[in-house]
Amino acid sequence: MDTEHKYRSADLMRKQNARSILRVIHEERGIYRKNVAIQTNLAAQTVTNIITVLIDQGIVLEQPMNIAGKGRNPFALQINYGGFYIVSVQITNFFIEVYLNSLDGGVRYQKYYEIARQRDAFAILKNAVSEVMATFKDIYTVSAIVISEAGIVIEDYTLGWQGLNLREALREFGTPVLVLNDVNIIAHYENSQQKEPSNFMIVKIGNGVGSALVLDGRVIYSSNHVSGEFGHVTAYVPGEKIKCFCGRTNCITKFISKGALKSRLGMSYAEIKEEVNRGKTAAREMVENIGPIMAPKLSDLIMLLDLDRVILIGDVVEDFEDIIIPSFEKEIQENMSFWVPFHRLEVKKYDCFPKICSSYAIEYYFSNDSGTQFLWDAYF
Ligand SMILES: [Zn+2]
Repeated sequence: MDTEHKYRSADLMRKQNARSILRVIHEERGIYRKNVAIQTNLAAQTVTNIITVLIDQGIVLEQPMNIAGKGRNPFALQINYGGFYIVSVQITNFFIEVYLNSLDGGVRYQKYYEIARQRDAFAILKNAVSEVMATFKDIYTVSAIVISEAGIVIEDYTLGWQGLNLREALREFGTPVLVLNDVNIIAHYENSQQKEPSNFMIVKIGNGVGSALVLDGRVIYSSNHVSGEFGHVTAYVPGEKIKCFCGRTNCITKFISKGALKSRLGMSYAEIKEEVNRGKTAAREMVENIGPIMAPKLSDLIMLLDLDRVILIGDVVEDFEDIIIPSFEKEIQENMSFWVPFHRLEVKKYDCFPKICSSYAIEYYFSNDSGTQFLWDAYF
């Protein structure tokens, strides 16, 4: 073995050991050194050497625990997520919002860009990212650009970037670019909050309808990247025949999304909200129908996939929760087999976007251990 090779293997080994130690500290915040050694199967001295470097570099924090009645307080370890940064980008058909935030969700910068009709959304995105990167280039190192996009990520017809690979197109910024559908990224976040592996589905009713699935603690992806298009399953609505842009007829999105309500009623969304509150109006009737149209489809999925929960999100759900949810619950309960342990329908609002992106960046770095450059490799 030549010297250079020997050096490189030692280097690789040190990096691998550091990754294992960081993973254990990530998974068990507040762990003690002794337990790190036990869980990583590394010698106590190796753990101490590596942790010393991790603390010196500001990657890990070690603080005394205050345990009353104990002689010498042990020192608890945690990763210094507040000291590392990402750019988080939210893209919808109407706006782009850019944040610079630490991995614990602390926001240092936030800027909103409207997407006017016929404008080049990609140019706006690229300028927005350039601006934040340039502003902070001497202050913070950006560990990833995390992009959440409403809709099908690679084929967005409204934004006019069919076939555009955002990851490649933003490569020049020299940091990993993680691109995800908006409902999927929420699914990753929700999943990261669970103590035990669980099975759930998130359905968003906003301008369109989107969904994401988590089974046995994993966010599910098909190899074609377009699974979870719940908005384009067929609704059973006798007497109706509405063509969808996707080529099908009577897609669920054509009856329940904000876009569908607006175009069918010929009103703005604000007007619809007023009309629904006025009592027995056409708008109210249409909103009352959301539950009965969607529930049979959801019950089938709950049944088929053995889901514990369904989480509903999005403007339409939030604004009309009182109308939609009771009918949903009734329909689902009546349609459930006795062996399905489904126990609840939840309405949630996730208003911690930078934190959601951070959580995904952390998951990305810890789940790509062997392949890509690990976030903290450069320090070893
Ligand atoms: Zn469709």
